[in-house]
Amino acid sequence: MNKLFKAVSLLAVLSLVLVACATPTTEAPKPTVVPTKAPLKGELSLLCTPQQVWCEGMKKEFEAKYPGVTVNFVRLSAGEALTRLRNEKVNPQFDIWWGGPIDSQIAAKKEGLLEPYKTDGQANIIDPKLMLDTDPVPSWAGIYVGSLGFATNTKQAAIKPPTSLDDLIKPELKGQIAIAHPASSGTSYTFMCTVLQVKGEQAGWEYMKKFAQNVLIWTKSGAAPVDNVGKGEAAIGVVFSHDIVAGIEKGYPLQLSFPTDGTGYEIGGMAIIKGAKNPELAKAWYDWALEAKTQELGKKYTAYQGLTIKGATPPKPELLQVKLINYNFDYCGNNKTAFVDKFSNEIAAASLAK
Ligand code: PLP
Repeated sequence: MNKLFKAVSLLAVLSLVLVACATPTTEAPKPTVVPTKAPLKGELSLLCTPQQVWCEGMKKEFEAKYPGVTVNFVRLSAGEALTRLRNEKVNPQFDIWWGGPIDSQIAAKKEGLLEPYKTDGQANIIDPKLMLDTDPVPSWAGIYVGSLGFATNTKQAAIKPPTSLDDLIKPELKGQIAIAHPASSGTSYTFMCTVLQVKGEQAGWEYMKKFAQNVLIWTKSGAAPVDNVGKGEAAIGVVFSHDIVAGIEKGYPLQLSFPTDGTGYEIGGMAIIKGAKNPELAKAWYDWALEAKTQELGKKYTAYQGLTIKGATPPKPELLQVKLINYNFDYCGNNKTAFVDKFSNEIAAASLAK
């Protein structure tokens, strides 16, 4: 018993000594762990409203920045894009909508189709009151600015470049104009809402009836009349001025003119789609689109719009140094569905039947 007691005591002392030896007197410094963000991966579904060539270019630029990401885009005009989002509301197929006049994005916000998003880059927007949704968490942000102009085919010597809205409804221009349909195109809707503001609604609708009589070609996409007029299929096109400049660079015989009493203009916007399946990728695109360097990429892809980020150099500043009307984006956005329906039902149908 005594022997056993001694052996147990010895063991206890030994284990205490061993524990004491094994326990360091001061704690070893812990390695510093630098948190790393996992690289972005996946497929971004982009609803792209600018010209195809710019959409393709930006897809490649974004994929070069984020090699783990594939961008799948569909190019749709602004009105078509709005209809598509409306139809897909219960099962959204797109993560982000990039480009197209904000009238359509304001209409989309009103219908609950957009996901608000607040991000640091919004602080760099040149004129946030005008170019950023004013909600505390904005639903859309402006990414470019463009003025409406007229393109005249210079080979049709009998036709002088128009310099006012009233020039477009002169009887001698009957069947001479190409413009997109305001139901499908944001460009054309910008023109129609310009008329409704400059003339007032009543006189504006009367104007649109006369104007429709002078239209020969209604296109789906806003920039398409540049090709029609460039090829001599129509004498005059109503288009964003930056698209006319791109047409002139392509070699078309076009002259650019503006209504000297003031022209309408767009703010091209972007927005994350409510219920987007890849919100992290959508936010990455959104943040990237608000960088000055990204905005300056436009000119590489013949997109000559004005820019919205401080420090970004616009490719053709002169296109905005014309007299602009005080375009009311809320008025045009909130009434978009009603105005487009009125035009489609009361004016376009009769014009197309002529
Ligand atoms: N392409 C360019 C270059 C534009 O500036 C705009 C306007 O945002 C659009 C396309 C819009 O296209 P659409 O008029 O077909 O809706």
